Amino acid sequence: MERNNMLQAAQLINSAKCIIIAAGAGMGIDSGLPDFRGNKGFWRCYPELESEQLSFSDIASGTAFIEHPNKAWQFYGHRYSLYKNTNPHHGFKILLNWISDLNKDYYVYTTNVDGHFQKAGFDADKIMEVHGSINYWQCSLACNDSLLEVDEPHYDFSTLPQCPCCQRYLRPNIKMFNDPYWLSQRTFAQKSGYRRLLMRYQADEIVVIEIGAGQHIPTIRREVEVLGSPVIRINPELGPLPRGYIAIEQGALEALCAIDSALSLPKENKPCLC
Ligand SMILES: [Zn+2]
Repeated sequence: MERNNMLQAAQLINSAKCIIIAAGAGMGIDSGLPDFRGNKGFWRCYPELESEQLSFSDIASGTAFIEHPNKAWQFYGHRYSLYKNTNPHHGFKILLNWISDLNKDYYVYTTNVDGHFQKAGFDADKIMEVHGSINYWQCSLACNDSLLEVDEPHYDFSTLPQCPCCQRYLRPNIKMFNDPYWLSQRTFAQKSGYRRLLMRYQADEIVVIEIGAGQHIPTIRREVEVLGSPVIRINPELGPLPRGYIAIEQGALEALCAIDSALSLPKENKPCLC
């Protein structure tokens, strides 16, 4: 069954003109990144915030950088350094190879804020970061609309970064909970690129590869479902499957390697799937 799904996935990728890579937190796990969603995972990584009864949504909030900036940067500064000093796993390269070797158009639609698609070599103009990026910083009170691109893997957070206009603290340009201060212009520009790409193709000329998208906040799953294109869902926790989805109940790297092997089989060895 699983092997048949791999072959069907390979066949869909082969015949599509355009690949939408829709990736959630599960995509980063094989690079060694933790999934911070939910208080359990959050407190496991930051036990001192549990003792202060600060939940994930207290820290991942638009007001956290105003009310307790040290604690907010304790979390986001650690994440920034972690993402900067971790390399994307081989699955990213496999996706890039499909795009170049099979001559596909593509777009990445991701809720991840780690910038790992850019780091792996994907075109920055073909990435939509729904929740923004940790590699861009803004004023915590949005006193102006500038975004500062930061590329310093060894940034020292002993002094917190300050807004050059109002001297309040900077914060990552990430959309947080209850967040009136998030500057959305960068993500909105990415979104119009994504919409323009969708208009160039019929739904059946696209294949969506949905990878590690969570069920708890189903932003990606919902986006993918309304496209009406064939979907390959890669996730060790598949959840309810809409009709017609090809399901691969594995982590990102394992599944992408398996599909890659199926894609590289010579045609005569491929069983007929009709
Ligand atoms: Zn400011």
